[in-house]
Amino acid sequence: MALTKSNDEVDAMRRGGALLSVALQTAVDAVKQGVTMAQLDDIATKVIVDGGGKPSFMGYKNGSGEPFPSTMCVSVNNEIVHGLGNRDITLREGDIVGLDIGLWLDGLCTDMAVTVPVGKINKERLALLRATRDAMYAGVDAAIVGNTVLDIGGAIEDAIDQKKYGIVKGLVGHGVGHKVHEAPHVPNYRGKFSPVKLVPNMCIAIEPMLTTGSDSITTAKDGWTITTVDGSDAGHFEVTLVITENGPEILTPQPDVGI
Ligand code: MG
Repeated sequence: MALTKSNDEVDAMRRGGALLSVALQTAVDAVKQGVTMAQLDDIATKVIVDGGGKPSFMGYKNGSGEPFPSTMCVSVNNEIVHGLGNRDITLREGDIVGLDIGLWLDGLCTDMAVTVPVGKINKERLALLRATRDAMYAGVDAAIVGNTVLDIGGAIEDAIDQKKYGIVKGLVGHGVGHKVHEAPHVPNYRGKFSPVKLVPNMCIAIEPMLTTGSDSITTAKDGWTITTVDGSDAGHFEVTLVITENGPEILTPQPDVGI
């Protein structure tokens, strides 16, 4: 499958990304102590459906064949990604909650995520969220014509104080648009990945995941939720962008999460 999109397809992703961003911002604005994951998921779903889109994670199958049950992945504290968004679990003051969301609009899909403080969080958690967001933007800045996906991983790695944070290596960013996950892999570190060249109209999701401890991960009994092995906290931020001759264009404007 081609690694690039037509201009019309990029336009569709620009529209989809704008709608996705509104859906995520609406959910972010509803984050507070006492709200449940399922309530946040319902809020985001309504914005997508009212806007003519379709949630792209709902029904998505992973290796276990178990279809994903919600619009968003909602992952709290030591949960890194892929937490089930239909859980009747209440958020508490001081939690950090990752909200990862994707949609289809006009035949193309987009993908984005933020990690949000619930009320007032401690300074270690605040620093984790800022470091993860900064690492994502370091990767975005490296997403230029002539670089490869490895330059993105290198830029992310260089932006992170590895004495303080683990970089999750078992999960990486990816191409996006025709499918929820497509080629190429977009790593968050220097690793043995194919050095795919970045060219105009390539659409990728950049999504570093950091922990306050080890980078070891494990999958929960539900077959989806990925957590840190050592129970340390995790942060996750993600954008979908298109490579252009004038630099990266973010297709999923980041919501304000108040950090
Ligand atoms: Mg993604």
